[in-house]
Amino acid sequence: MTVVVHEQLVLMLEIQDLTAKRRELESEVGMGAMEVSQFGIDLDEARDALTRKVEELEGGLDDRTRRRYDRISGRMDRVVVPVINDTCYGCYVQVAAATAGEQDPNAELQTCENCGRFLYFPTG
Ligand SMILES: [Zn+2]
Repeated sequence: MTVVVHEQLVLMLEIQDLTAKRRELESEVGMGAMEVSQFGIDLDEARDALTRKVEELEGGLDDRTRRRYDRISGRMDRVVVPVINDTCYGCYVQVAAATAGEQDPNAELQTCENCGRFLYFPTG
């Protein structure tokens, strides 16, 4: 089976990853402990770079997906969650097996009927 991941899903996973990194940076900036991290990175600058990257990626989402993404991210920590053993790892409710035949379930955008999060299916 070839692994085909929906382009919008890839984007959202990247956005989620970068947003989490930015949040970490912000908590460091918020503590005011160091202006320059131990790696010699200016935290403000790094945060701005992440913000720009996130905005760029968000521009690649179609309107419908983006509205849904924004809605979920406003009230939940994670927008895209894995499905493991048929369980949504956002709300831990069983989700219907979404696979139809040989097709990679990640080829389509799927959402949890219970919590509304986007789902991805780790392979391997
Ligand atoms: Zn769920």
